[in-house]
Amino acid sequence: MIIAIDGPSASGKSTTARCIAEILGFIHLDTGAMYRAVTLGLKNAGIATDDEKNVRLIIDKMEIQFDASNKILLNHVDVSSEIRTADISSRVSAVSALPFVREKLVKTQRLIAGENSCVLEGRDIGTVVFPNAEFKFFLIADIDVRARRRLIELEKMGESKTISDLIKDIVKRDELDSSRILSPLIQAKDAILIDTSNLTIKEQINKIINLINHNK
Ligand code: C5P
Repeated sequence: MIIAIDGPSASGKSTTARCIAEILGFIHLDTGAMYRAVTLGLKNAGIATDDEKNVRLIIDKMEIQFDASNKILLNHVDVSSEIRTADISSRVSAVSALPFVREKLVKTQRLIAGENSCVLEGRDIGTVVFPNAEFKFFLIADIDVRARRRLIELEKMGESKTISDLIKDIVKRDELDSSRILSPLIQAKDAILIDTSNLTIKEQINKIINLINHNK
């Protein structure tokens, strides 16, 4: 069974997807982490996103995997913390808009999830990666709530930003992700919309689990 959870940044996808996968005993696949890992790889190699020839070369050689504890590995190195910085967040949309990056990662996502029951979170899971997913959810939340969630995440990593800067960053990333030509961020027609602004994590998880149990 495939459960697709899409939505804009900081809409509550990650925690929800992880917990739902745990409850159901499914694999959890954070596809955003994969785009972030590619972005980190390009940054570390000092290659600009518009340098198509070198971007292609390095991406062909890049290995993106998850270890047994679901930590993301870039060329066999755990980069799960490094990919969460504000700097990677500000670069990732340009990288995720590149056709050959999407081609490579979507192929890997289908391979990982194809033979397992899986909860995938991202932007294009219900529209492109698994359009026939049994369950599709599209999570949204008010911009202030999302900025506060992001602030807490960054503070845990020792980074500080103002709420107004975070709102600007999030709005910009949503715009880039929604306006790209290939696989833009958009709610699938058959996805269930869930506004998490006023829900606790427990409430949003219960809501989704109930919907799954009642529609199986
Ligand atoms: O979910 P997260 O914020 O970690 O995603 C980081 C970025 O990866 C998004 O802003 C988007 O540019 C890209 N992404 C994507 N398609 C996905 C998942 C993420 O383009 N399925």
